[in-house]
Amino acid sequence: MDWLYRRTLRSIGSYAVETFFWLCQRADILALSGKPENAPECSAMTDRKRIHSCPSACSVTEEEEKEEGEHSPQKKPTRQLPRGSVEGLTKGLKEKELTPKRLQLLLVGKTGSGKSATGNSILGRQVFESKISARPVTMTFQKGSREWAGKELEVIDTPDILSPQDQPEVTAEKIREVLASPGPHAVLLVIQVGRYTTEDQQAARHLQEILGKGILAYTILVFTRKEDLAGGSLEEYIQENNNKSLDDLDVACERRHCGFNNRARGHEQEAQLQDLMKKIELILWENEGHCHTTELPNIPSKSI
Ligand code: GDP
Ligand code: MG
Repeated sequence: MDWLYRRTLRSIGSYAVETFFWLCQRADILALSGKPENAPECSAMTDRKRIHSCPSACSVTEEEEKEEGEHSPQKKPTRQLPRGSVEGLTKGLKEKELTPKRLQLLLVGKTGSGKSATGNSILGRQVFESKISARPVTMTFQKGSREWAGKELEVIDTPDILSPQDQPEVTAEKIREVLASPGPHAVLLVIQVGRYTTEDQQAARHLQEILGKGILAYTILVFTRKEDLAGGSLEEYIQENNNKSLDDLDVACERRHCGFNNRARGHEQEAQLQDLMKKIELILWENEGHCHTTELPNIPSKSI
């Protein structure tokens, strides 16, 4: 019992000493950085955890952390100062990465699925020519942009790039030229409600051949003619469809899908965009704000 009593006392003592040094060191950091007491960058112990979870921009490693514990507490403030700054910087970079100023959205899908109409719905005005036709209407890549929640949304409408007429490398090169940056933040694979055909299946496969298998991690299924669901849910439609490959594709895209009635205007149009933007934010979050890189075409596609 005596040893237990002594051990408890020892633990309480060392905890008090540690807390004391931690408070001193915090006071030093705050005084040096001129931050108010409740500044978020250095206000919580959980900051230490966050440093470990940011892989790239942090310069403080596990070894340094261990090493620090072995050093005298007086040394801590000088070593801790860059930590606070690095953490602040990292946080800033993370925030910037996760919310890029310009979001590039690439519209793809078979001809007539409603890509151009969806592009116009996103932009909130008629930018791309969209009409019913036996022949493809959109013959070249086209861009339109709008401001949305402080960001620039750049929508790229495409001609018929998913029918296997061109070599995947040739199409990938064209996309790279149009994007003029590593790749899109999100790909909107447009499918018409009630008409998921073998052509659509081929299109999904071809998309992976062109942009690589990993493209599905950036893909959202956009179903046009949502009004044809007549109030029914998109989930039910996807899962109860006779064509199981549609459900497989939806699973491969981690169930990121949304519906568009491209005839809708006003609030309904705005709500559709909000829903799409939520899915895009999910992609940005999952991919840490990075674009898809179009550097690796021709990876065998998933069997969907
Ligand atoms: P694209 O070839 O994929 O670009 O398809 P378009 O945007 O040109 O659309 C083909 C036709 O489908 C056009 O007549 C559009 O008006 C029509 N369309 C597209 N989306 C919708 C929709 O959500 N509802 C209805 N009713 N028609 C749509
Ligand atoms: Mg078009």
